[in-house]
Amino acid sequence: MMVFPALRLLSTNHVEDGYYDFIIVGAGSTGCVLARRLTEIHHWDVLLVEAGGEQPQWDLVPAYLTFASDPAGGIDWNYKTVPSPNYCGGVSCPYPRGKCLGGSSSTNYMIYARGSKSDYDELEKLGNKGWGYNDVLKYFIKSERNGDPELASTKYHGSDGPLPIENYRYQDEIGSLTAAGTIQVAAFLSSENPTHNIEPDLEFGFASTFSNGLIPASYYDGITILPIVLRPKSRGYVKINSTDPLKPPMIKPNFLDNKADVILLLKGMNISLQILNTPTMKTAGIVADTTEIPGCEQHNWGTDEYWHCVIRITANTLYHPVSTCKMGPQSDPSTVVDSKLRVHNTSNLRIIDASIMPFTVRGHTNACVIMIGEKGADMIKATWLIP
Ligand SMILES: Cc1cc2nc3c(=O)[nH]c(=O)nc-3n(C[C@H](O)[C@H](O)[C@H](O)COP(=O)(O)OP(=O)(O)OC[C@H]3O[C@@H](n4cnc5c(N)ncnc54)[C@H](O)[C@@H]3O)c2cc1C
Repeated sequence: MMVFPALRLLSTNHVEDGYYDFIIVGAGSTGCVLARRLTEIHHWDVLLVEAGGEQPQWDLVPAYLTFASDPAGGIDWNYKTVPSPNYCGGVSCPYPRGKCLGGSSSTNYMIYARGSKSDYDELEKLGNKGWGYNDVLKYFIKSERNGDPELASTKYHGSDGPLPIENYRYQDEIGSLTAAGTIQVAAFLSSENPTHNIEPDLEFGFASTFSNGLIPASYYDGITILPIVLRPKSRGYVKINSTDPLKPPMIKPNFLDNKADVILLLKGMNISLQILNTPTMKTAGIVADTTEIPGCEQHNWGTDEYWHCVIRITANTLYHPVSTCKMGPQSDPSTVVDSKLRVHNTSNLRIIDASIMPFTVRGHTNACVIMIGEKGADMIKATWLIP
């Protein structure tokens, strides 16, 4: 969450009449960045409207993270997906989205991973001038206050921005591959050639909280290895579901619709087993928990058939949806905004958030969307600031 002085912040329940130079809808990761940067121009009046309330104090405790996306936490939209036999065991899966000051950045896992250089170069090649790696790097740097002096002194990082980036403070010397409430260790690698430094297609997160809900698995000396497909090929959609604007949208993510994603996850499961067989893991006494996942008992544990079944029952999202308002040239009918983030065929309306990304980057989305907020703010300033 970011701090922004001289800013009027009103709940959607109480918007005062008035005239504003800019109205920002949603005080999430990008909305907050925009509000902060636009209010640097002191004669601009900025209204930031947020549907949720303040971020509660308990949400600052990392171990309570799972609670943040739970209906009981009161700071999530509590969306559910349309059920499909392909994922979540055939029932609706939760589709968390933060609903408070800070948006999903207030409920997320705090992992900072920008993606690959090639992600941004690809974005530019799709017709989005000014979005190549060399153009966006300066906005990553501008946003960042990196607490590691060694990293901060390199040409890739910044130390003066508003977003603190640091190593996780609470290192457990004994449950050390995991951390309560977040992922402490992550590996990015190519399934084709895991030991070579080439573009990754899989991420492996070492988590503690997934298997036991609110009680961290680390409490029981457990680790959950999560293979993650970085650039899924399956495509879903979000649709307005009712004439009542307050009703939730229909969310059909179509996870694992494309067979290539299932095959890649299967490779991920097998690589996870290889990780378990490394001398480091063996020395630490870590062994696989071979308790069968309910619903997959008919298969032999560890076979491809077994993992196929486990994937269909337990695979879920890592909460990085993008592309509902894709950026691209107007000649492409699937796009909504141009490379200056202006909605096609409208004036004075921009979309500046995760939805403009045509694909997920090979990382996590929050760093990327904060960069989008920084870049979007500069675009607005360039349009409206009269020298
Ligand atoms: C549980 C979870 C874990 C995640 N973990 C990570 C992670 O570890 N690392 C990472 O990089 N990314 C992570 N992400 C993803 C990342 O947080 C999001 O991609 C990012 O926050 C999206 O930013 P945004 O500005 O597009 O939207 P949001 O931050 O979601 O902000 C949207 C805001 O708009 C408000 N809003 C919506 N509709 C209205 C309306 N009609 N009127 C007023 N306000 C409205 C919402 O309440 C919300 O505050 C995670 C996301 C979730 C949900």
